[in-house]
Amino acid sequence: MKQTNVYTSLRFILGDQLNANHPWFQRVDPTVLYLMVESRSETDYVRHHIQKIVAFFLAMRNFCSELQAARHDVLYLRLDDPENTHELATTIRKVMDSHGIHHFEYQLPDEHRLDEVLSTFAESCHPAGKAVDTHHFYTQRHELASFFKGKKRFLMENFYRSMRKKHGVLMDGDEPVTGQWNYDADNRKKLPDSEAIPAPKVFEKKVSEVVDVLINQGVKTIGSIDPQRFIWPVTREESLGLLEHFIEHLLPRFGAYQDAMTTRDWSLFHSRLSFAMNVKLISPAEVVNAVEKCWRERPEHASISQVEGFIRQVLGWREYMRGIYWAKMPEYAQLNFFGHKQPLPDWFWTGNTRMRCLSHAIEQSLEYSYAHHIQRLMVTGNFALLAGIDPDEVDQWYLGIYIDAIEWVEITNTRGMSQFADGGIVGSKPYVSSANYMKKMGSYCDGCHYRHDQRTGDRSCPFNSLYWHFYHRNRELLERNPRIGMMYRTWDKMDASKRTALLNQAEAHLENIASL
Ligand code: FAD
Repeated sequence: MKQTNVYTSLRFILGDQLNANHPWFQRVDPTVLYLMVESRSETDYVRHHIQKIVAFFLAMRNFCSELQAARHDVLYLRLDDPENTHELATTIRKVMDSHGIHHFEYQLPDEHRLDEVLSTFAESCHPAGKAVDTHHFYTQRHELASFFKGKKRFLMENFYRSMRKKHGVLMDGDEPVTGQWNYDADNRKKLPDSEAIPAPKVFEKKVSEVVDVLINQGVKTIGSIDPQRFIWPVTREESLGLLEHFIEHLLPRFGAYQDAMTTRDWSLFHSRLSFAMNVKLISPAEVVNAVEKCWRERPEHASISQVEGFIRQVLGWREYMRGIYWAKMPEYAQLNFFGHKQPLPDWFWTGNTRMRCLSHAIEQSLEYSYAHHIQRLMVTGNFALLAGIDPDEVDQWYLGIYIDAIEWVEITNTRGMSQFADGGIVGSKPYVSSANYMKKMGSYCDGCHYRHDQRTGDRSCPFNSLYWHFYHRNRELLERNPRIGMMYRTWDKMDASKRTALLNQAEAHLENIASL
């Protein structure tokens, strides 16, 4: 580090802004001091999984070392550094003052909370601080809002197709390659027992140093960690390695088993690239381009339905959720369409329930800080919605437990897609199902205490009666939804005594929710 008064600008880097290809880092500027901070404000805004905090800190420390190796000046304040005030704006001010720096620059945060903190701080500087783009996403913050201007519904498929055209992804001129936009109908198969699942690629790193700091500093966390064998990618090189592993071993079956659930494995054919992408170690364009390149060069390796299915998640859903976030925040965080108020059962923090699907999805989340999309949506999310859990509590749980949980992509998925608390901005109808879906898409029902084929009785699967209870209690809000009307016709045709029995059973399960 150089002496005080040598630097004229301070550039602040957040823990999810680890983009080595950012224009900032393409030239060494000796007048710039970069600042990175491990702050209690970030470890404590929700109770996080221990692997999540460790992954962030390790990725930040590695990024700092790489910048320093490239001769950038970086001041890195660890969690236990005496200079660290644990309040970002105060720490930045302190560092600027001690180095006599007046110019402040930051990359636009992806989170509303941090956007407020940093923009307010920038305004307080003289001259006013400057925000620059992160050069990570395909879209700008408000691009989706402009795309849907004047429209009531924000249809993801329309946005996705426009992204394909705009960025020339899987396109042949103005038309989709193969003439078909969407291969959803060919995907989503149940996983047969005969289908081998490749072992997940993990990175066996020793992380006891970071774990010890968290313990010594009294940071409260959830979940478990093996300090001798940390599994997540925390460098760009490791992230690129995970991408390569995905393309070689998982992409050929990705789409087919995208929605499958099994107790045989924890990540199936999913890429597990969300953390690496969300902290910007790799960009969505790198991921999408590598997958498209593979298909164009080796179409026999992975069919178009697998490749399109994957690209839709990254180019479509990921950018769409970011756009919804910036179009609808901060109001979005308060939405509670159904007025749900029930507390989250304690077993969400232990996995200690006799419902096999929930205990497996929760236990795996506590062990790996990861669950794949269908576990999040159709197991934990489905149950929370059917049981009427307060979306604030559901949000806190998802935000804390998953390695990739950053508010912009967590809240839109949880409050929007999963809990329908936004009343239908993200999804056209609530994602709810009875045990039928669980049985059809996975192996969870085999050996479960509850019977997937029973609707009433002590051993009846709670999903069955809760499903009808949900529709019954929300009739006024949902009946006019054209995608749901059919459900009410089925319900109305049911024998009155059957309906009463279902509702009574659901009430009994709800009363007994703590020990289901
Ligand atoms: P893959 O299945 O391999 O998919 C590839 C990539 O596509 C993902 O890495 C991700 O970047 C992107 N993607 C897929 N689906 C979505 C989606 N619905 N929204 C945005 N991006 C998507 N994703 C997060 O990154 N952070 C979260 O906090 C988060 N919370 C979620 C909460 C709920 C209730 C639900 C239903 C989904 C949530 N998702 C979240 C979306 C999705 O479940 C994860 O991105 C995915 O499971 C991450 O695992 P993967 O990298 O193996 O994904």
